[in-house]
Amino acid sequence: MSPLDDSRIAGTIAGNIQRIQEEIRRTATRAGRDPSTVQLVAATKTVSLSGLLEAYAAGVRVFGENRLQEAQEKMPAVGPRQGLTWHFIGRIQRRKLKDIVGKFGLIHSVENVEQSRHINALAEKLGICQDILLEVNVAREDTKGGLFSQDVPKAVEEIERHPHVTLRGFMTLPPFAENAEEARPYFSELRQLRDSLVQDGLVSGGVEALSMGMSHDYQIAIEEGATMVRIGTAIFGKRGPIPKAG
Ligand SMILES: *Cc1c(COP(=O)(O)O)cnc(C)c1O
Repeated sequence: MSPLDDSRIAGTIAGNIQRIQEEIRRTATRAGRDPSTVQLVAATKTVSLSGLLEAYAAGVRVFGENRLQEAQEKMPAVGPRQGLTWHFIGRIQRRKLKDIVGKFGLIHSVENVEQSRHINALAEKLGICQDILLEVNVAREDTKGGLFSQDVPKAVEEIERHPHVTLRGFMTLPPFAENAEEARPYFSELRQLRDSLVQDGLVSGGVEALSMGMSHDYQIAIEEGATMVRIGTAIFGKRGPIPKAG
């Protein structure tokens, strides 16, 4: 990109997306990976309709929403668009699951077997299979959801028996650190966990998704094997105050 192009689009959503897509390609290639195996998920909490449309126009095809109520307002406003899918990436409240299952192409944040069982029952009623990721609390933080790594193999065995749930892989949200390098061991551990599950035959080779990496550490996540990076701030700018979950 010439400096002229750069200045013209700097700071715009489209410009940010172009720059991030380029950085994803560069980082994957440098890591010896096929860039097409890394998907950009735009984390769209608090983003306005015009922001969503600008991101779509700039090539984003996956919107990741944290709050059901917010998503329920945005989805009809955006309407059906070619290739567009919505993912649920937020904390799951049990009573809201009935409005999540079947509405989102992928649920990143399934925290335990019980949630999967509930999703399975809801999906069965709809006559569908719901794609999910299992969230892993690699750093064992009290404040975060997800299974501890040591509990994942057993959970996976049970989830694989839920016929209306398709386990696609794993998601993690490492502790925030100013220095993004500090997240590397957590990303690496999640990749190794997935690889050992595949190796032990607990999951099939199709269970390969790794949703990890955000605005400040996605390059490191890609180096460690991320297949989905969830990026908000670097696309849309700093968020205002986040409304309370409704
Ligand atoms: C907000 C959010 C992101 C994106 O975070 P940024 O730092 O803004 O890129 C990713 N994942 C989850 C689960 C989020 O809630």
